Amino acid sequence: MTMRALTVRPLMPNSAAVVEVPDPDEADGSILCETIAVGVDGTDNEIVEGKYGEPPAGRQELILGHESLGRVLEAPPGSGFAPGDLVVGVVRRPDPFPCESCAVGEWDMCRNGLYTERGIKGRDGYISERFRIEPEFAVKADPALGRLGVLTEPSSVVAKAWEHVERIGSRARWEPRRALVTGAGPLGLLGALFGMQRALDVHVLDVVATGPKPDLVNKLGATYHEGSVDAAGDGFDVVVECTGVGPLVLHAIEHLAPDGVMCLTGISPAGRTAPTLDVDALNKQMVLNNNVVFGSVNAGLRHYQQGALALSRADRSWLEALVTRWVPLERWPEALERREDDVKTVIEIVAA
Ligand SMILES: [Zn+2]
Repeated sequence: MTMRALTVRPLMPNSAAVVEVPDPDEADGSILCETIAVGVDGTDNEIVEGKYGEPPAGRQELILGHESLGRVLEAPPGSGFAPGDLVVGVVRRPDPFPCESCAVGEWDMCRNGLYTERGIKGRDGYISERFRIEPEFAVKADPALGRLGVLTEPSSVVAKAWEHVERIGSRARWEPRRALVTGAGPLGLLGALFGMQRALDVHVLDVVATGPKPDLVNKLGATYHEGSVDAAGDGFDVVVECTGVGPLVLHAIEHLAPDGVMCLTGISPAGRTAPTLDVDALNKQMVLNNNVVFGSVNAGLRHYQQGALALSRADRSWLEALVTRWVPLERWPEALERREDDVKTVIEIVAA
């Protein structure tokens, strides 16, 4: 059998197309799913633009897509999954060596960079009518969420960031009260959701004054700020940075409370220089305030489970508003367009 899939020749710009490909290989895993939806993000844009990505060994084409949601068609007895379950596939696979982190299932902390990633690096992704997944790399989505279970992968990235903030915070007595999230894109808004679920006083900063972002922040019960980080106030116990804008990152450090922890989750192209930055003052502030600034990428299995749990506890109408466009597979170029008022865009393959 064959199926439709969105493929790309990595490093070749504008090579993406919906084509017929063979059904998923059993080597991809014993669980067969029909694909409900796949979210898209900046990484997908970079791959389609020819800036990033790697096909599976011995092939030229890569099936795109890493933010999956499928419905199980076949699963072996004893796998923990059954036909009808809604599942999300983990993106990263441990490196074959494996390094100390991959050896204990913490592939998100891989030390040698030889990991693979579905839809990104050396493994087919999920934008196809069916996909296969190994039971140990599959996570159940709450059936009550329906197609919104597609938010599980981005939630896993945010879950890891918050888990690591808390693990770092627990180095001493840790009673966080105020949190700042910079950037009100999908990760920032989910980051704010996690902060609200922890009963924190959550503030979200972005550059827009109108559109869905201020509404989404307000509906969450958090406080929206527009413009400079100075507008958001001071004394933040937690900062979750989701813009990757270098000067903002360094400026936000000054807004940390004593013992405050800041997690960096965003990246932007290298080359920007901060005009006037007193690095000695920054160093002094971090030392005298016991501040920690750390980076976080990807997610391990437990973070997908934490992400799925957070979504199941979230308000459904709020999650519905987070996905601003659902685009059918045949109109995939629209899904990769960046439009004003976009928050999250998802390619929908079959109805949930
Ligand atoms: Zn590794």
